Parts: sequence; structure tokens; C-alpha cells
Amino acid sequence: MNILVINAGSSSLKYQLIDMSSEKVLAKGVCDRIGIAGSVIKHKTFDDRNVEKEIEMTTHKDAIAALISVLTDKELGVIKSLEEISAVGHRVVHGGEKFFKSAIITEEVMKTIEECVELAPLHNPPNITGIRACQQVMKDVPQVAVFDTAFHQTMPKKAYIYALPYEYYNKYKLRKYGFHGTSHKYVSERAALLLKKPLDQLKIVTCHLGNGSSIAAVDCGKTVDTSMGFTPLDGLAMGTRCGTIDPAVVTFLMNKEGLDTEKMDAIMNKKSGVLGISGVSSDFRDLDAAIEEGNELAALALEVFTYQVKKFIGSYACAMGGLDAVVFTAGIGENNPKVRRMVTSALDFMGISIDEAKNNQRGLEIDISTEGAKVRTLVIPTNEELAIAKETKKLVG
Ligand code: AMP
Repeated sequence: MNILVINAGSSSLKYQLIDMSSEKVLAKGVCDRIGIAGSVIKHKTFDDRNVEKEIEMTTHKDAIAALISVLTDKELGVIKSLEEISAVGHRVVHGGEKFFKSAIITEEVMKTIEECVELAPLHNPPNITGIRACQQVMKDVPQVAVFDTAFHQTMPKKAYIYALPYEYYNKYKLRKYGFHGTSHKYVSERAALLLKKPLDQLKIVTCHLGNGSSIAAVDCGKTVDTSMGFTPLDGLAMGTRCGTIDPAVVTFLMNKEGLDTEKMDAIMNKKSGVLGISGVSSDFRDLDAAIEEGNELAALALEVFTYQVKKFIGSYACAMGGLDAVVFTAGIGENNPKVRRMVTSALDFMGISIDEAKNNQRGLEIDISTEGAKVRTLVIPTNEELAIAKETKKLVG
């Protein structure tokens, strides 16, 4: 059974074709600059056949047609025809309160995804466009929506209600949703396998640390709290996002600097985080290089970030009334030993301690705890595409 995974953005569309019997990626690629001059498809097969082709793609439907044509191409192809695609799994960012798990796409499901546009105005519209394009090009292939928010829908009300007038929750569904759910779910399930313990007996803090970062408290396989909120701006300081700040800072800065909402929004989303503090970069590799050269603000940015991660681990251990494992995942979590060391330092008192030699490895699925550590610290590479494909397979049978 082959499943096509689609992650549609406003002008790009990423895809992977996965053979579910071996969980092997047969081919993957990206259609870039959709609707912009110079649109291009970059495609790579499992046996390293690469192509970068300029193809006119004015719409997402053109992009889907283009990727199907390379997937079935005589030279580059990995399948003979569309019939070898059993289902399509779509990443959909926001499922609001309606979706607490993935859903086979029907017109009713589409209507609900459209209702969530208000909650994710930048993300849900391209996701919808991607689904519609697939429906047009692959009429008879079942489509599944996998939501970034769904895994966190198990949060209790006390975790997701903001202390604002309750009428805003009723009126606008203003509450914490949380994001990166597919990743938090995937790595918590992998953690249970690695620890050889049933997921429903584990208390895990999953740290998805990438350009966007979030942390989740996963108690017995269910999210009970997570750091991102109504939007992915909340929680940790990130590459360019400020994360949680005193809300009064927003009006203070707007008044002082004469900023409108759009400019203030851009400052918090694009000019803050470790980039904002360091003035160097949003990329942790650049921060590390700057620290090596003695840049004090880069060092401060790293300290702020790792201190915040540490505090979330502690508070989520309290929220769950215990802790069995901490998982590091995503670009930074998987590849940055220094961040893992700083986050876990001086946590022996709560049973967390890591082995320096094990920690110095990158990109592996590995338990990096010291021999007797009560709480296991794991590095687990995330694989959101495989997670989406698995969900899709589960639903279409
Ligand atoms: P992501 O958004 O998950 O792609 O993560 C991006 C972040 O991960 C950047 O800050 C990078 O510095 C970091 N990162 C990604 N790959 C590596 C790598 N191979 N080595 C070190 N850092 C990495």
C-alpha cells in the first residue's frame, strides 16, 4: 500500500510517497513558487535519482499534476500509474475543537476545516487548496486530513482556558489549542517502544525543538498540557518568535514605537526569539558559531531558550504528578548536544541525568541517560510524514 503525504503551503507543496509495507520513502520532493514566475519541482527517489525541473505551475492543481507525472515518469518514476496510490494524507494545521483525531475527507469535513480558517488564516487556506487540488486530479483516491492540533484536544479545560472574560471563549473559541501534535504523538509512541513499556503507563515530556518549538506533557498517551497556545507564537522563545511575554508589553511597545497591529505582529513573529536577542540568526548553528567567537548576546539567547525549556519540563512534571521520560526531537532537539546538556543540567534532583558520550551523538534514536537515571532522557528523530501516512492507513484500512 502506497500513501502520498501532502503538506501544502501558500506557494509551495511538499510531498512524500511512502510504501507502507516497509515504511520506506519511495520518493519525495517539493513544488516551489506555485503561482509565481519560475515555478520548479525538486524531486528525489529512494535510489538517489534527482531532478529539478522548471514547470509552469500556476495553481496547486498544476503542482499535483506535476508531481504525479514525475512519480509515474518512465525514467524517474517509482510507480506505474495513479492506481498504485491507495490514499492521500494531508497535513492540516488547525482542526479547532471539532477534530480530536484524523478524519477521512468528506464535504462535511471540508466545511469544518473551512470554519477553522479564522483560527489559522495563514495555514488552513493553502491546506484546503491542496486537498481540493488532489480531489480534482485524483478523484477516486481517498483523502485523509491529519491535524496539528488534534493530539492536544485531550487537554483538560483548566489547561486550555485563558483567564480572560469567558464570553470570548464562547464567542471566538479563544483558547489554547497547541500545535506540532503529529510530532508529539509520534515521538511519545516511539518513546514507549524504546522504553519497552506501555504508553498508557508513562508520563512523558516531549520537547519538539526546531525553528518553531513546543513542549507537551503526555500522560498515558494523552496531551494534558502544551506550550503553544491559541497560535504557534506562545510558549518557548523560538528562532524568530518571542513566545510567552507579559501581555502588557504589547500595548506598551505599540504606544512607545507607534506600531500598528501588523507591525507589532511582525516583531513578535519574525524579529524576536533567539534572533531578536542575539541579532545574529534564528539558526542555532549560527548561534553556536557566534558563541565560539565570543558573542555574548548569542550566548544569552541560548541561555534564555534552554532555561525556558528546563522550566517547562519541571512544570509539566508537576502537572502530571511524575515523570518517566523526557524526549528531545526536531532540528535542535535531535542535533544539538549543547542544548540538551544545558536543558538537563542540574536536574539530578528530579532523576534526570545524561551521559556525555551518548549525548554527543546526533540524529539517532537513542537513550542518552546515565545508567541509573530514574527519568530516561531520549533523543527521537521525528517523522511527521510517516506519522501522517500511518494515520491515513489506519483510516482507509
Ligand atoms: P527544524 O525547524 O526542525 O528544521 O529545525 C531547525 C533548527 O534545527 C535550526 O536552528 C538548526 O540550527 C537546527 N538543526 C537542523 N539540522 C541540524 C544539524 N544537522 N546540526 C545542528 N543543528 C541542526
